[in-house]
Amino acid sequence: SSGNDSKEVYKVGVDNTYPPFEFEVNGELTGIDIDIMTAIAENQGFEIEYDAMDFGGIIPAMQAGQLDIAIAGMSITDERKKIVDFSDPYFDAGLTLVVGGETTDIQSIEDLKGKTVAVKNGTTGAKFAMDHESEYGYTIVQFDDSPAMFQEVQNGNADALIEDYPVIAYAIPQNSLGLQIVGERLNGDQYGIAVLKGKNGDILKKINDGLQELRDSGEYDKILDKYLSE
Ligand code: GLN
Repeated sequence: SSGNDSKEVYKVGVDNTYPPFEFEVNGELTGIDIDIMTAIAENQGFEIEYDAMDFGGIIPAMQAGQLDIAIAGMSITDERKKIVDFSDPYFDAGLTLVVGGETTDIQSIEDLKGKTVAVKNGTTGAKFAMDHESEYGYTIVQFDDSPAMFQEVQNGNADALIEDYPVIAYAIPQNSLGLQIVGERLNGDQYGIAVLKGKNGDILKKINDGLQELRDSGEYDKILDKYLSE
C-alpha cells in the first residue's frame, strides 16, 4: 500500500455475533471462521485485520472498498456471485425453521399462515422468507443480528425465525435459548470466503491454496473439532 516493504494487510469483514463461526470471548474474536482465516493468512504469508460488523453491511462494505475479504458463515449464492468471487466451499449448511420451546402449533413452514417470522437483514434466511411470504401467508420482521432475532421469538413477539442450521443447533444448547428446530431443513447450501469480483484475483488463489493446505494437514478437522466436538 504505502510502498515500503511491509506486507499488505487485507481487511477481513466478519459477523461477530455468529457462533460457532465468529464470536467474541472477552473481546477477542474466535470461532471456526476466525481460526480458518487466520491459518490461511499464516500458511500463505499475508496479513489480515478483522473488521466486525452486522452481516447485512458486509457486502456493501466490500463494494465500497472498505473490505478485501469476507468470512461470515456466508452462503455461496448465484445472486452474490454477481458481486463477489467465492473460495472453494468450506462448510455445508442450510436453513431451518425455529420456534419457541413451548410452541406446538408450528411443525413446518406450512403452519405459518398469519404468523410473524423473524429474519436477519441481508441473509439467505431473509431472502428465503421473502421469496415464500405470499405462498405461506406470514409477516416478516427483520433484525440486524442473530441474537436480536432469537430474542424476538424468545419474548413471544415473533412466532418463528429462520436461521442457518449449524448456527442454531449450536446456540440452542450452548445458551439454553428455549427455542426448538422444527421441520425438514428448508434448503442446503455451502459457506465460502468472499473477495470482491475482479479485484484481489491472486488473493482468491491464495485462499483456495491455503484452504487445501489446511485440509491436507488435518488442521481443518482440528478446527471443526475444537468447536463442534460435543
Ligand atoms: N449463511 C447465511 C447467509 O449467507 C447467514 C450468514 C450470517 O448470518 N452470518 O446469508
